[in-house]
Amino acid sequence: MSIKENLQNIKSKLPEHVTLVAVSKTKPVSDLMEAYNAGQRVFGENKIQEMVDKYEDMPKDIQWHMIGHVQRNKVKYMAPFVSLIHGVDNFKLLKEINKGAIKNNRVIDCLLQIKIASEDSKFGMSPEDASRLLQSENYSELTNIKVVGLMGMATFTDNTDQITKEFNELKSTFEELQKLDTTNCKLETISMGMSGDYMLAIDCGSNMVRIGSSIFGDRS
Ligand SMILES: *Cc1c(COP(=O)(O)O)cnc(C)c1O
Repeated sequence: MSIKENLQNIKSKLPEHVTLVAVSKTKPVSDLMEAYNAGQRVFGENKIQEMVDKYEDMPKDIQWHMIGHVQRNKVKYMAPFVSLIHGVDNFKLLKEINKGAIKNNRVIDCLLQIKIASEDSKFGMSPEDASRLLQSENYSELTNIKVVGLMGMATFTDNTDQITKEFNELKSTFEELQKLDTTNCKLETISMGMSGDYMLAIDCGSNMVRIGSSIFGDRS
């Protein structure tokens, strides 16, 4: 099936309130343009340099999401245009993003990445650390940051009970943190679900899915 057909097929399954992030990492601009011409405007990349190159080559009404792990020294390259950063898991990084946002006279939306998978992944905060961060004075001083939600990745497994459990964990963390009354934070987005598990994620409360291979085909 073509990229256009894949997109239409997925979109027909997504409820209205769910945002589709087309994960285009490693794919050529011609593939992204095929998706763009089929109406897709939200793209996710996991490497900053690759995202910058594609940003420069493509129409300017695209929303670029950084879904990968972010190195602090590269934040400046995406600060002028990035629309949402999914994988924020420490204060130092937030501070650097704030710096880039100020320099570009804008507010940058971020999601805190919560570690929900049981496997040994290096990234993601505990719910407790996320809660502490959002209530800290240091955080309240980041004038050009807005934390708009949470992101999580389930364990890579066929065990749907386990995946469901992990997604539910993220949803309940989201609901807990939503109760916090902090200034530069308004939790509205739960980014969870990829090609293999997005319908399950939506059943568990996701409203943003990050889908790559089901749209663009396998990555070599
Ligand atoms: C690559 C990637 C995806 C998309 O994965 P698919 O299985 O191809 O849909 C989603 N989220 C993150 C963080 C990724 O790195």
